[in-house]
Amino acid sequence: MANRLRSATTVGVLLVSVLALTLLFGNTGERIALQMCVNVAAVVALAVYCGNTGNVSFGHGAFMTIGAYLSGILTMPTALQGSALPQLPKFLAGHELTVLVALPFVATAGLGVAILTGFAIARLKEASAAIATLGLLIIVHSIAVSAREITRGSQTFYGVPRITDTLFVLSAAVIFILIARAYRESRWGFFARAVRDDEDAATALGIVPFRARFIAWCLSGAMATVAGALQGHVLGAFSPASFYLSLVFAQIVMMIVGGMSSVGGAVVGVIAVTMLQNSVRNLEGGFSVAGFVLPEVFGLTTVALGLAILLIIWLRPQGIVGMFELGPEADSGVLRKFSRRSEPASNSAPVGDEQLVVSGLSKSFAGVTAVNDISLSVPTGQITGLIGPNGAGKSTLINLMTRQYNADAGRTHMGMADFTHLPRHAVIRRGVARSFQNLRLFHGLTAFENVLVAAFATGHTRRTAEAIALRELTAFDLADIAGMQAEKLPYGARKRLEITRALAQDPTMLLLDEPAAGMNPAETEDLASRLDAVGRNRNIGILLIDHDLRFVNRLADRIVVMNRGHKIAEGTPKEVRTNAHVIEAYIGWGRTAQTAISKPITV
Ligand code: ADP
Ligand code: MG
Repeated sequence: MANRLRSATTVGVLLVSVLALTLLFGNTGERIALQMCVNVAAVVALAVYCGNTGNVSFGHGAFMTIGAYLSGILTMPTALQGSALPQLPKFLAGHELTVLVALPFVATAGLGVAILTGFAIARLKEASAAIATLGLLIIVHSIAVSAREITRGSQTFYGVPRITDTLFVLSAAVIFILIARAYRESRWGFFARAVRDDEDAATALGIVPFRARFIAWCLSGAMATVAGALQGHVLGAFSPASFYLSLVFAQIVMMIVGGMSSVGGAVVGVIAVTMLQNSVRNLEGGFSVAGFVLPEVFGLTTVALGLAILLIIWLRPQGIVGMFELGPEADSGVLRKFSRRSEPASNSAPVGDEQLVVSGLSKSFAGVTAVNDISLSVPTGQITGLIGPNGAGKSTLINLMTRQYNADAGRTHMGMADFTHLPRHAVIRRGVARSFQNLRLFHGLTAFENVLVAAFATGHTRRTAEAIALRELTAFDLADIAGMQAEKLPYGARKRLEITRALAQDPTMLLLDEPAAGMNPAETEDLASRLDAVGRNRNIGILLIDHDLRFVNRLADRIVVMNRGHKIAEGTPKEVRTNAHVIEAYIGWGRTAQTAISKPITV
């Protein structure tokens, strides 16, 4: 419900602007509105990739070029085509389709190009992705300039049936907004945004970054191709330069000014920048105000765009709209819906007695042995503690178990599944969830969405995923703040949220890397009782790393002690406390540790 309202708000903003332009400024206004709707389609298409993956693309000008020329050729009257493009290859000539019939072919061609280029581009991120997309733009532009038989080269390509109907282009823009919104809220949209915010954390949920980016790229590319076709039909005559750097620059400015993380941002950005462009264009020819005369300035519009982007980056880096969509507060609908129902029952049936077994794992970094021949097992239904001083190799061990790092020797297996040669996401799918020592939440998502994405990644339908997310949030006392952006939560809540997200994966094994670090004693106490309940009620195996030895002592059934990469002791908390090696090592670790271990609190 809230999602629909948010889409409606964005569509509403566009409708109001188009109406205002046409009513207030007559023919000029209508012309601006027509171009504005095409820009909305193009920028929304661009933002499907850029907003959801966080990578900027210069390559969408390439898709627009392909769309404009292809649609132009398919719809051009045959007689005109004979004179304008006498050497056009036979299979392209003489179709004379209507625009509406041509568009599905255009979209398919765009999708084809996106699939081919996506195999390379979706592997990249940030600067390297941006440069690769720039390469795509340059290549397609050069081809368009040199393929004279098809494009008339750098000469004007004319004879393209013109679209003058604002309603047609407006409808296209609205459809684009709805597609982009549906994608953004779909599981694939969430996966792409999770990868954007933290690739390692997303991978730890079983999301494959390449696939998430690939789908965003393909959808975005196909949409941009259609937007290019629309642009071509609005212009009627164009050349490869019409879709080159200045257009690409203007569209990126629109997207960033509005805020690229939301569809509403793309739309608001187009409206704001279109207004700016048109006002400044009027001044370009020079003007005089109260005796002050400004001469004709060529390129004033581009300067204004540059200033707009600088101002936005300085004053409001997330754009005018910000991280979230226009409209009602995120997730309030879903939460209200569930709060009226009874709380869904936990669907984590006891999983039986499984063991996660590590044997002989070793790992060195540049000659420093971080983990040296470690063997241990984590049974379900129990909490296994892992303690040791800083640098003992505890985090590295988790990274080896989940295959974030490749082990130099040894293996990890659970039942019949040997993790040694499995890709990371396959290990996760076997039921191994983890948290990170340094908080790694998806900061651009709400608390609720952080957990929802984990349930989606496990393969649940939306309904089940929402129920699981709410169940886990409730279990960790986060339901009331579920609609808040994860980044804005207090520290203790963020730490709990990370555990909640891991639990939403319905894991058999939960590996927690210092979940209580930085918490105050009351928060630690609260977390201990919640973890205790989870471990026992759901028959999950928990590997609990922590510095707070009282915390581990209280919860763990068995404790493994590491020091300098070696396992130095293993046993019940009591055995470990009296172990000579541990005492010796602990004296070396300092007084705090010593006091903590000698005075365990009882449950
Ligand atoms: P702990 O979690 O017990 O504090 P870590 O596993 O983080 O210990 O680190 C163990 C040792 O491995 C440390 O000496 C650390 O500097 C080193 N180490 C861990 N990760 C890396 C890495 N990615 N590159 C180089 N050295 C690393
Ligand atoms: Mg660590």
